[in-house]
Parts: sequence; C-alpha cells; structure tokens
Amino acid sequence: MRDLETFQAALELKQPWFVAGSRFDAAARRLEIDISFANGARFTCPSCGAAECPVHDARLLTWRHLDFWQHETHLTARVPRVRCDACGVKKVSVPWAREGSGFTLLFDAYVMDMITGMPVAVAARMVGEHDTRLWRVIRHYVDAARARADHSGISRVAFDETAARRGHDYVSLFVNLDRSQVLFVADGKDAATVGAFADDLTEHGGDPAAVCEVCIDMSTAFIKGTAAHLPQAAITFDKFHAVKIVNDAVDDVRRAEQKSRPELTHSRYAWLKNESNLSAGQRETLNSLSQRNLKTARAWQMRLTFQEFYQQQSREDAAPFLKKWYFWATHSRLPPMIDAARTIKRHWDGILRWHDTHIANGILEGINSLVQAAKAKARGYRTSRNLKAMIYLIAGKLNILLST
Ligand SMILES: [Zn+2]
Repeated sequence: MRDLETFQAALELKQPWFVAGSRFDAAARRLEIDISFANGARFTCPSCGAAECPVHDARLLTWRHLDFWQHETHLTARVPRVRCDACGVKKVSVPWAREGSGFTLLFDAYVMDMITGMPVAVAARMVGEHDTRLWRVIRHYVDAARARADHSGISRVAFDETAARRGHDYVSLFVNLDRSQVLFVADGKDAATVGAFADDLTEHGGDPAAVCEVCIDMSTAFIKGTAAHLPQAAITFDKFHAVKIVNDAVDDVRRAEQKSRPELTHSRYAWLKNESNLSAGQRETLNSLSQRNLKTARAWQMRLTFQEFYQQQSREDAAPFLKKWYFWATHSRLPPMIDAARTIKRHWDGILRWHDTHIANGILEGINSLVQAAKAKARGYRTSRNLKAMIYLIAGKLNILLST
C-alpha cells in the first residue's frame, strides 16, 4: 500500500523496522501508525552493544508523534527484548524515541521549540497533553545539556537570591560574570547554597579555588558561604544593593517625619527615585520640599552624595570620599541614616572594591530580567525543579541537542 510506504519514508525508518499498517479515525482526529520489525531480525544489546542478539519477546508500546495536519498521530510498535549472552534479557532502544518516553524525538523537538515562544502551560493546552509530561521533556534536555556543560576557567561569579513564589521559597542564582550566564541554581538562600555551587562547579570541570572575584549583596549567608567555599574570592558588594540600603533609610526617615510634617504626604517616590526618572509632578514636589528644613531632605542629600561615591575616579579618591560621607551620616542624628552608615562601614572593603572591579549592575539586571521571563514561562510550575530547568534553559546558555 502506497500510504504505508509514504509513512515509512517520512519516519525515515530503517531496517529491520517497517510500517506494518495504519488506522485513520477522522471523527477522533487520530492517526495511528503501526511499526513492526522483520521476522527473524536480530538487534544490538542496549547494555553492552553486542550485535546480532536474538529476540526474546516483544511488548506493544505507543508514542505521541507530530500531528498529521489537525490529527493527533501516534506510533505503535512491538518493541523486542533481546537475549544477550553477557547481559541477559534486555529491551532494545528504538531509533525514534528516548528510552522511557511516551513522545517521539520529533515531538520532543516540537515541544522544545514551542516553549521558546509561550508558557509551558499554554503549550501543554495546545498539544492536549498534561503539563507534567512537557516538563519531563524539558528537564530531560536541560539535564542532558547541563551534564555536558564545561565550567572550567570560571573565575568571576555573582550570586543573588530570587523569590521562587510570592512570599516563600527562594532560589539562589550563580552567574558567570564573563558570559552573563546562569551556571547554577540552588534551593534556598543560605550559606550552604555556596557550597552546593562549589560542588557543582567541580563536577563541571571548574575549580572553586580559581574563583577570584565574587559580587553579592550584603547578606551574611553569602558572605559566610563565600569564605567557606570560595576561599580565594575577593568580594565586591553589589552597587545596587548598597544604594538600596541608603535609600531605604531615607524612606524610614520620611515615614517617621511625615507624622509631624503633613506636607510630606504623597512625596515618597519623589525622594526615592533617581533624578532622571522623576515625573514633572515629582520634580516639583522635590524642588519645593527640598528647600525646607526637613530631616527627609537632609537624608535625601546623603543618598545623593552616597551615589556620587560611585562616580569617583579611583579607589584612592573614593576612600576619603566615603569616609567623609560616613562621618556626615553618623553625625546626622537621623537614626536610620546612622544605621545605614554603620552597615556600609561593616562592609567597607567590599564596597570600596567596586572601584577595582567595576562589576556592572547591568549584568545582574540582565540576568534578572531573564529570570522573570523564566518565571512567566514556568507559571504554575508545581516544583522548583521545573523553575530551575526553565532558568537554565533561558539564562544558562546551554547547548541543547535535539534530533530534528
Ligand atoms: Zn549485552
């Protein structure tokens, strides 16, 4: 029959496999193709590779294949188990599907292609499969690509945590600063995550002792973890996080002062935003309020000056500049600013080190926007395993190998 030959050619089946029959059910929108193998065929042992093993028995299996136009297509085959002299009875591997998968390789590739353009849940709905089956496909290809990934020569790393779900569950990301690539995602945000990263780095041909630069926020956990697991690394505290500590202190001053100075009502964002991001209204508010004798205005001046620290020409200029700022802030009689200044003081070297390394926020921000995209794609992802797989897929610069 001609259509069987067509199917056989389209599936690129090679001996001893052939298309033995097909059933088309228009009402059910389903096409079933039966694959069989020639009588007396012999197969290679899947365990040891011994050729010409005789068939012991066979079991009927089914795989979802690429749709035939609007019709779901399923392949059915009797898959033999062979008798190997060395290994005993073993199920052979079929050339059109991965072991244990209910999808063909081409369907896998189709799924992996679909999810580049849409959330997994949407792709699952479109192909009429439960999303857990699609996640299994994604995890397989991501895990395989990660297993091959070479992390030798990694020397500059940033890490940061992100909430996996609103309010609870964190994952920590370890980023290669030289390639803007997520190397590792750990559950949690404690010091042990750094140890897990160091182990993973070793498994991928890297060397924790070769990591010489680390960029982190001021979390005690990451500082401890770095000291314990990346012993040669010098720490640069992330500029964004340092400025945020001072900015949060400005907000605390404003909140306390607002109780006695009603003119501060609704002025919150005018104080917190950077000059260039202010709306016309906010600019006006700021112009008028900053002229008055307000604690908030003084705190805001301190924040602006703290940011100028990052514009200093060199570490030699920056160190005395920061010292003066520290003196000013700690003598301000504004408790939140004093606390912020003390936090800066406790992290002095890592803050100054920015002037040696100039580790750019842009890299972390770029990664963060990729992670947000991964979260959107993984919406309703059920387990952090799936979220991690999606982060690797989007931000890991992996070499995913698909049969197409
Ligand atoms: Zn064998």
